[in-house]
Amino acid sequence: QNVAAKIAAGEVVERPLSAVKELMENAIDAGATEIKIHVESGGQRLIQVEDNGMGIASDEAAVALQRYATSKITQVEDLEHIQTLGFRGEALASIAAVSRFTLDSQTNQENMGVHLSVEGGDILAQEPAGLKTGTRIKVEDLFFNVPARRKFLKSENTERKAISDLVSRYALYYAHIRFQFNMESRQILNTNGSGDRREVLSQLYDVTTARDLLDLRVVDEYLGVEGFLSPVGISRSNRKEIFFFINGRLVSDSSLTAAVTQAYQNMLMVGRYPIAALFLKIDPQEVDVNVHPTKAEIRFREPGRIFGLLNSAVRKNISAFSN
Ligand code: ADP
Ligand code: MG
Repeated sequence: QNVAAKIAAGEVVERPLSAVKELMENAIDAGATEIKIHVESGGQRLIQVEDNGMGIASDEAAVALQRYATSKITQVEDLEHIQTLGFRGEALASIAAVSRFTLDSQTNQENMGVHLSVEGGDILAQEPAGLKTGTRIKVEDLFFNVPARRKFLKSENTERKAISDLVSRYALYYAHIRFQFNMESRQILNTNGSGDRREVLSQLYDVTTARDLLDLRVVDEYLGVEGFLSPVGISRSNRKEIFFFINGRLVSDSSLTAAVTQAYQNMLMVGRYPIAALFLKIDPQEVDVNVHPTKAEIRFREPGRIFGLLNSAVRKNISAFSN
């Protein structure tokens, strides 16, 4: 296994959290209505993601594991209007380069599915396998062949919290998908796939918080914002419960966070922050998600305009409720 592949892998899969995110996004892209996620030892020992999506054809399984192999875009212009979460074709190759990796998949066009096992990027076996339609990917011993990376991983506890937040947020946004999430042999989440985000909220927060969160829905022709905000009576000591989806992708952006926290200014005490789960929809041409391999960083064409619209949407919403 060559050094370049391992270095490249490190850009996409920084930590167990990133592998969970990539596999979950692939399942969503595959049109799954059910996703089962199982994590052991904070993702270092095991990350398993099983979906009932479209599957991977037998003759495409090995190809999917190659770097820059994506079935999702075919030309540069496609980057302007990305509809899927993945498009760089790096995730599976990267994860398989730094783990013991098995893939089982079947499409509904074939009688037999495919089983592939890979260790540190080398394909050990590929054989037909009988399955139901969908894909199951098992990642064991992540970074077993990258001791330097293993040494600098965050604690298992930190990783567990981050993975749990990540999966919960996707389960909330994609409430029409049934998520079953188990970690260290405990069930963390089991959503019903009904599409009712309030149902998912009740699994993410305590009863009163879940009940008291305010609905936000403002649809401008340039920007659509939906989601949940805390009333002024509920606050947190940090900004960690403020998050955003843009066109279905969880992103982190300090200016979006500032647009929200500033809307609460003078309504919360100093050092207190709201809870916000906000889902933004914007023309894909207005936002660049291709800034970094993990796609969590984004760039807007008109950041000031987004800031203004979001800030006033939040401001109006909370003042309407606090009067
Ligand atoms: P990307 O998502 O950027 O296309 P990945 O490396 O994540 O790249 O995946 C490579 C390809 O493997 C995808 O384009 C898709 O065709 C296929 N694939 C990966 N995961 C799944 C899945 N869960 N179900 C169906 N196809 C998948
Ligand atoms: Mg992907």
